[in-house]
Formats: sequence, C-alpha cells, structure tokens
Amino acid sequence: MPDYQQIKAELDGITVDDNPNMVLRKSRDFYWYSPILKEQLEQVTGDLVVSPKSEEEVIRVLKTAFRHDAPVTARGGGTGNYGQCMPLSGGIVLDMTKMNAIKEVHTGRVVAEAGIICARLDKQLKEETGQELRFHPSTTSSATLGGFVAGGSGGVGSITWGGLRDLGNVLKLRIVTMEAEPRVMELTARDLMKVSHAYGTNGIITEVEMPLAPAYDWVDVIVGHDTFMDAVRFSDALAASNGILTKEIAPIAAPVPHAFFSRHQPYLKENEAVSVVMVAPHAMAPFEALVKLHKGEIRFRADEAESLRGMPRAYELAWNHTTLRALKKQPGSFTYLQVQYPGPDHVAKVEKMCEIFGDEVIGHLEFMRFDGAIQCSGLPLVRYTTAERLEEIIRIHEENGCPIFNPHRYTLEEGGMKQTDTLQLAFKKETDPKGLLNPGKMIAWENPDFDFKAGRYFLFKGLAETE
Ligand code: FAD
Repeated sequence: MPDYQQIKAELDGITVDDNPNMVLRKSRDFYWYSPILKEQLEQVTGDLVVSPKSEEEVIRVLKTAFRHDAPVTARGGGTGNYGQCMPLSGGIVLDMTKMNAIKEVHTGRVVAEAGIICARLDKQLKEETGQELRFHPSTTSSATLGGFVAGGSGGVGSITWGGLRDLGNVLKLRIVTMEAEPRVMELTARDLMKVSHAYGTNGIITEVEMPLAPAYDWVDVIVGHDTFMDAVRFSDALAASNGILTKEIAPIAAPVPHAFFSRHQPYLKENEAVSVVMVAPHAMAPFEALVKLHKGEIRFRADEAESLRGMPRAYELAWNHTTLRALKKQPGSFTYLQVQYPGPDHVAKVEKMCEIFGDEVIGHLEFMRFDGAIQCSGLPLVRYTTAERLEEIIRIHEENGCPIFNPHRYTLEEGGMKQTDTLQLAFKKETDPKGLLNPGKMIAWENPDFDFKAGRYFLFKGLAETE
C-alpha cells in the first residue's frame, strides 16, 4: 500500500486534498445510472485528490506516483456514466479542472488545456470569434474537453459532424506518460485513436486541439407527433434534408416528454411523442415546411417563447439527459441501453424493436452522421425488472442486428465502445509500464489472454485491423 501521507508531503506546493468526504465525492460519477454498476462500484473511493495547475505539476504528480506505485485516475467533470473516472484500486484522483486555459484560437481550430469546461470554451469562442466546437456532450456545462475526448463519443452537433471516432474531429492531443521520467507526447491523426475514449488508461491529456464550426444562435424547438414512429420518420427526413441546418435531432416516445420534461410540460401533450430539435435561425422557414409536410405540430420554439427563465436548453432534454430526467422523477423504475441501428434500414430496425418490446423499452433516438451516412443510435429507457431480463433485452436487440454498447459495464471492451488491440496494448506498455493509470478499466491489460478479435462490434475500432 503506497504511503499517501508521504506522497502528499512530496507534492508540496501542489493542491492535495485528503479529506475522506471530498475524496469520496471526487471518486464518483454517474455510475448510479446503472443498477448493476451502482451495486458493483458503490464502495469505490480514492486516497487523495490532487489538482495540478500546469503540465509541469502533472509531470511531478505522475513521477511521484510512479515512484510509490500509486494508481492515478484522471477526472474531468465526473459526468461519465459508466464509472469511467472511478478509481477502482484507490490511489490518486487527478482533478484536471484547474488546467482550463485557452491557449490559441485560429479560424477553424482551438488549442485549450484539457480541464476547460466545454460550455465555457464555446461561450468564449462564440463571443470572440463567432465559432464553436463542432459538437459537444449534452453535459457541456460541467464536462471538460479532456474528459470528453477520453470518455465521450459524440453529441450535440454530431448530426452534421459525426463523432469523436471520426478522423479530423480531434486534431491534436498532448499527453504525459506514467513513467519514472514522464514524457510529453503529441499525438495527431490515427495516433489519436490510442488515447481517444481510452478512459485515461494510457496517458494524461494536458492539452487538446479541436476543429471548430461557425456558431449560430441555434433555435430550440419541440415538435409533437401522434406516435413515436411518426417522430422517427420526421426526424429521419429532417436529418436527410441537405439544406436545413440542424444541430440536434432526437425523437422521444410518450410518456417521457410530458411526464419528465417539467419546465416544458405546459407546452406538451400527454400522450404525444416529440422530436427535440435545434435549428439554425435562417433555416426555420424550410424547417416549418417540413414539419407541416409530416403533419407534426410545433409545440415549443425558443425564439417565440415569452420567457426562457429556468428553461433548460433543448440538448438538456436529449442524449443522456433524457435518461437523467426519468431517473430523477421515478428513481428505481428505469434504466437504459445504448443501441445502434445500422443503416440504411435503421428506421425499420427501430420499428421492429418497438413492436417486440412495446412499453417495456421506451424509444429515444439520436440522429447523427455515421461513416458519411445518416443513422440513428438509441438511448431507450428500459422499465427495469431484473438483471436477467436486461441481458435478455440486450440479446434480442443483437439478434435483430442492433448492436448494444452496454452501459452496465465499466471496462472499455465490455461496453463495446473501445476495442483495445495489440497496438493499443503495446502503446500502454510504453506509456504506463506499471499499469498505474486508471487500473481495472482495460481488460486487455489485466488479462493478456483476452481475445481482441472476439467478434464484437466496437464503436472505436482497434488500430491493428485498419493498419
Ligand atoms: P469524466 O467523467 O471526468 O472522465 C471521463 C473519462 O475520461 C474517465 O475515464 C477519466 O479518467 C478520463 N479523463 C478525464 N480527463 C482526462 C484527462 N485530462 N486525461 C486523460 N483521461 C481523462 N457523452 C457523450 O459523448 N455525449 C453526450 O451527449 C453525453 N451526454 C451525457 C448526459 C448525461 C446526463 C450524462 C450523465 C453523461 C453524458 N455523457 C455524454 C457522458 C459524459 O458526460 C461525457 O462523455 C463527458 O464529456 C465526460 O467529460 P468529463 O469531463 O465529465 O469526464
């Protein structure tokens, strides 16, 4: 067991907190979304929270931790929902939020420290340069840029730009390695894939360079539809409309919108499905025409609302915020899944799943660009009964050609998001030879016999197979 008081003494001059309540608080994320992870991870806590203010301080922390064999788990905003930033083996929780400077802004790209909050970055970019991140997580107001790259996948804006797995959506990462003498490495292009969505298991990201898009005063709109499939077909048509610029398209089935979107409830109808949309202001007229064509009804539009006081933004009704609202209103009743409905017959696949599960699995889709085509993935709410039934629901989806990225697993590989392969494993051996970075999250490291080619579907593909 490392001597954490000694480590604290050696980190003199760097902010270190060993108050057990604070350490416990900073050892948590939204793992409790999953009844399964809630049970598995409830006891997890670190030993120290260390908050570096600069890359030099990160180097000092890693060097000290290496000397003492102390695990280090990076933490941004702590908004991950599969226990990504929870320190399974205790040790140092490396709070990155004090490293939050914007270093450079150019036309089309920004360089910022990894701990900057995404919304703060976007606000400043918009005010000063009329630009914004291409896409951000719906947790933008508390998620960090580094945490998004290390733990996220895509989000608000992915309808136009795809996700973090796409080449070109992250430009450069600066990382610090976990060695006796930590090195600073800069990764670009395909090398970025080693660290993207790797939960900080093979380097601490200190700086991120991201591409930018023009910023708009996006209009939040909610469209009402008679049925969920009406909402899905409208959303699919909108997503495929070449001329209508949108940032977010999410069809959501009844009863969720009226039951759980409290602030918007006065505008909504009880048994209606909705499409939650963000539209560029200049695209509102053609957008309205498309709504009419699909016999939808605009229930809410932010540009005509009398007051927006206390109203969440549209994206805070979508992505995993939909799940959050249901969990908060009816704790214990719901859990959720992450589903992909590969195209081009994605709408038919969604319809089939709705027929099979009815009200047990309540539809919520996010439309996005995937490998150049429009597709949808789902974050359906599941009326939770037992872990066995949940497994059965997963199996039925997969048997019907709808892969599941299982949000009830905390390892990279079991969740199906990240395939670690021989090249990534070799990179971890190089950057973290003692396996001290976020231990327990990469199966390939813990179990060298792990079958990299187990035939699973992975969102972030391994590097070897595409070399
Ligand atoms: P954290 O949760 O703190 O960390 C995430 C992972 O990254 C951890 O493994 C951590 O160890 C690692 N990490 C953090 N910082 C660093 C660093 N500097 N260097 C190396 N590793 C690091 N995700 C999406 O992709 N899109 C969404 O739209 C979305 N919506 C969400 C909505 C809700 C309500 C919730 C609860 C979650 C949602 N998520 C979403 C998941 C999560 O919010 C995002 O992925 C977010 O970007 C994570 O950022 P964070 O700063 O909170 O990271």
